[in-house]
Amino acid sequence: MTKADRIRDKVVVITGGARGIGLATATALHALGAKIAIGDIDEATVKESGTARDFEFYGKLDVTDLASFTAFLDEVERTLGPIDVLINNAGIMPTGRLIDEPDKVTRRILDINVYGVIIGSKLGLARMLPRKRGHLINIASLAGETHIPGLATYNASKHAVLGFTDTLREEYRGSGVHFSSVLPTLTNTDLGSGVSAPKLLRAAEPEEIAAAIVKLIASPRSKARITAAAGFTAQFMNRLLPVAVADAIGRALGSGTTFLDDVDSERRKAYEERVRQD
Ligand code: NAD
Repeated sequence: MTKADRIRDKVVVITGGARGIGLATATALHALGAKIAIGDIDEATVKESGTARDFEFYGKLDVTDLASFTAFLDEVERTLGPIDVLINNAGIMPTGRLIDEPDKVTRRILDINVYGVIIGSKLGLARMLPRKRGHLINIASLAGETHIPGLATYNASKHAVLGFTDTLREEYRGSGVHFSSVLPTLTNTDLGSGVSAPKLLRAAEPEEIAAAIVKLIASPRSKARITAAAGFTAQFMNRLLPVAVADAIGRALGSGTTFLDDVDSERRKAYEERVRQD
């Protein structure tokens, strides 16, 4: 069976699908014949993206609101049929030192990046378990396997997504539902605007993350790290080296300042303003 045969006609829901990695993934899957539903808190942009690409379903979704999430999934199933794949992708990444992070921003990061993934998984599972099939894909980050100054709460949120998703895989082993985590490196989307990759690593394009997700759906695996080079570096530094050595190498490569002093704050301003509001 080809990759396209495994994707065709699958009903795939993608949260935070109005732009960036979610939109690139929706586009790649749609091209292979999947039925796509994108939801996003940014109603104008999700409608624009959905219309422009002729997706089967698009609309407003706030992943931090259980009622909104439930209603969105119900409507998708009424329109397109049972959900085969749910991609919990919506996420935000405000940058800066913890001490300067307003409490409402801290809560918002955890609300979207962690609570949103947890309720999404719960709602998805409730639909998939009785059917004994389905695939939950949670978008974490390589930031979930490492620690990066300027991203403390974001790091915590992505470590949480990885632990959560691994736990579900064991808790629902044999249920027919697959569980995967996706760990992208810094990727050229709005979320990474004004940030440059540390030495020796390059930023990925959203299409590269999308291609990895397509592969995961065709052949489910527990984790996909993208790029392979960044994934290898993160694994090597954080699993094989003593912490002090890994931290020193990280500092030498510039990761200590990537999300602090090296940020181009002019280029990043619009993103920070957008995600810091209620
Ligand atoms: P992005 O900012 O381009 O897109 C994220 C989308 O999520 C936006 O359209 C936004 O409106 C939406 N969103 C925010 N809050 C929401 C809510 N409450 N409900 C529904 N939608 C909401 O970001 P991206 O780079 O495409 O990021 C997608 C995922 O990939 C995130 O989970 C992010 O943490 C992860 N990731 C991104 C990078 C990167 O460097 N871009 C790296 C690793 C992981």
